[in-house]
Amino acid sequence: MNKFSWYEAKSVEDAIEQANSTVSEEIYTPTGKASIYKSGGIDVWDMVKEGLIAPQMIVNVRNIKGLDKMSFDPDSGLSIGANVTLTEIEQSPEVSEHYTALQQAVAHAATPQLRNMSTLAGNLAQRTRCWYFRSADHPCMRKGGDRCYARSQQTGQNENHAILDNGSCVSLHASSVATALLAYEASIVYLDAKGESHEVPIEDFFVSPSQDIWRENILSPGDLITEIKVPTPSSGTRSHYVKQVARESYDWSLADVAVVAKMNGNKCEKITIALGAAAPTPVRAYRAEEALINQVINKESAKLAGETAMASARPLTMNGYKVPLFLTTISQALLEIA
Ligand SMILES: Cc1cc2nc3c(=O)[nH]c(=O)nc-3n(C[C@H](O)[C@H](O)[C@H](O)COP(=O)(O)OP(=O)(O)OC[C@H]3O[C@@H](n4cnc5c(N)ncnc54)[C@H](O)[C@@H]3O)c2cc1C
Repeated sequence: MNKFSWYEAKSVEDAIEQANSTVSEEIYTPTGKASIYKSGGIDVWDMVKEGLIAPQMIVNVRNIKGLDKMSFDPDSGLSIGANVTLTEIEQSPEVSEHYTALQQAVAHAATPQLRNMSTLAGNLAQRTRCWYFRSADHPCMRKGGDRCYARSQQTGQNENHAILDNGSCVSLHASSVATALLAYEASIVYLDAKGESHEVPIEDFFVSPSQDIWRENILSPGDLITEIKVPTPSSGTRSHYVKQVARESYDWSLADVAVVAKMNGNKCEKITIALGAAAPTPVRAYRAEEALINQVINKESAKLAGETAMASARPLTMNGYKVPLFLTTISQALLEIA
């Protein structure tokens, strides 16, 4: 582990000033000298210990007052401060009442101990858990190398990897909470180096490797997430989230699906279907959504929606099982709301 200095940020302005006095695009190389924000610290410490990053300064944003607030207003929706923990979201009465799929997604992320530490901003900005990316012995594309080890026909251990949008690096985004936030069409508020505020739909927050191999989200080094906004679901909305894992606890997603639908009886008036662990970023199943508009949700239409969502799947050598897994999981989530 390299030597670094520690800065205890007192305000968002203070954090941005410190971080931007040392930022560098080289943060994700072992030799890079830069600063990095730390909130819960789970992924930051893993990356430092794994030699993935060698920050010059760690800017602790965990204790900034105001970033730990969460509120709900029927007109403006749910506002979640960057430092609100997954446990606090899970236990919020407003989240339980109005955002079933979000509550379910958070409750199934990681373990109770990790959820106590994990902040929502850290969760969304964490890096992929692809074992080649995390391994110091594998200089993969995401770290400046010339190949994706997981894609290799002969040696790629790719059982957990992407089945959609997998023409470049096939890693997955690690956040399963993001799947639910995508289905609710949440947005991310962040401040840039000049302190200017930006609000982006969560769909535009994530960046796939085919767009830019160096990033997993649009943040530039030194940009600070302050808030996550989730619109109020309109009346008649139902939602559900399902996560498939190899082990019941302490495990990352193999496939997860969030569905948010405005229903009129069993008939679907508006729907969003989000898939996690299918592609390098959480993705919407737009064609499946279209197929369900004005339809009754039943076994047949749910099956057809799953097949539509998986029509463009291109499994790798070891993850063909994910196609039927997603078919079942999409159906399951849809039938729950029906
Ligand atoms: C064994 C294990 C299992 C897990 N399983 C799941 C799972 O199933 N689903 C899931 O969703 N997650 C899972 N996680 C992730 C975990 O829940 C944490 O959310 C995640 O590791 C990081 O959260 P953190 O608050 O500790 O962030 P940190 O480690 O502090 O930060 C992570 C990244 O976010 C950046 N960052 C932090 N705050 C800000 C901010 N305000 N603005 C801009 N950038 C910021 C940091 O610079 C860093 O790059 C798992 C983790 C482990 C170790």
